[in-house]
Amino acid sequence: MIYLDNAATTPLDEAVLKEMLPYLQTEYGNPQSQHAAGRAAAQGLISARDRVAKIFGCRSEEVYFLSGGTEAGNLAVKGVCAAHGSGHIIVSAIEHPAVLESARQMQSLGFEVTFVQPDKNGIIPPEEVERAVRPNTVFCAVMAANNEVGTIQKVEKISEICTRYGIFYYCDCVQSVGVVPFPKNASAFAVSAHKFNGPKGVAAMYIKSGSKISPLISGGRQERGLRGGTVNVASAVGLAAALERAADGKNNAYIAGLRDHFVRRVLSETNGAYLNGTPVLRVPSNANISFEGCDGENILMCLDLKGICVSTGSACSAGAVTPSHVVAAIAGDERAKSAVRFTFGKYNTLGEADIAVEALKQAVSQIRGR
Ligand code: PLP
Repeated sequence: MIYLDNAATTPLDEAVLKEMLPYLQTEYGNPQSQHAAGRAAAQGLISARDRVAKIFGCRSEEVYFLSGGTEAGNLAVKGVCAAHGSGHIIVSAIEHPAVLESARQMQSLGFEVTFVQPDKNGIIPPEEVERAVRPNTVFCAVMAANNEVGTIQKVEKISEICTRYGIFYYCDCVQSVGVVPFPKNASAFAVSAHKFNGPKGVAAMYIKSGSKISPLISGGRQERGLRGGTVNVASAVGLAAALERAADGKNNAYIAGLRDHFVRRVLSETNGAYLNGTPVLRVPSNANISFEGCDGENILMCLDLKGICVSTGSACSAGAVTPSHVVAAIAGDERAKSAVRFTFGKYNTLGEADIAVEALKQAVSQIRGR
């Protein structure tokens, strides 16, 4: 199998698993418990939080462990709206559904929402974010790097704007670890371990102390009362271990080399192939390409039959496949229907990239010949 879907998830790093195992097997106590087993687990959790805080550049009390990037997006949007009760929020039109759907839900409850559109390169113009600000704006979300086209957003500029107007700014950093520095002035940002060779089902979120935000999940006083539920210590430890390995971006040049080689070959050896999103402000792993006259889903299926895993970036809801809202926003519906996302990771090789190019060329000509 050739796995080119690293933006969807990544394999667990062996060294990360090794650090997690004691907390699944021997240090299995509940970190809230007041006995030796609880204290051992609590020690693991404290250390994981400290390691994450060091990389985030914040205080340990500002780090929260959650169930994933989806929960982080929900907590940011709904938690800030709940704390204010009413008002206006700004979200980019290319956010992950965790943020977009939460914003739509808030809209149905009476909040005013502005969806800021990207330019044709897939970049959200900071001046459009500023233009959207109203006297009652309480929240803004613009992600650091887009999950479908990989475009890197001007988050420092946007965080400055939000700071100036006193608006809570949430930056989804799920796809930008090791590529974009964590935005210094954001009110909150989050990472999800399974996107950088850590375990699934765990995220770490920075929330600036003193922020006006209400919990989504009520329960015990875990996570300083902001997130009820026994913390998954093994996963928190795994996240910290994986984050330490990914945060310096030491594999970026290698991954970008594979991606650039792949894109160069595909664009020069296939007619009617277009790269979606800017080639410059882009994470090293991502190649999102549209193929004229083809349906992205058909290409995905042809490649799958050859053991190559890719994605169309489309949302499959209630059995209906809808083209990527991100590619549609930057390049139109036709390009969205024919888009395929290839995302490279540290375990891929140049040989795999070449096999994928050949399989892709065959798939495209087969589909066009039908
Ligand atoms: N945000 C972005 C940009 C993502 O790419 C994803 C996952 O695809 C998420 C949020 C959701 O993260 P999780 O899978 O941890 O819920």
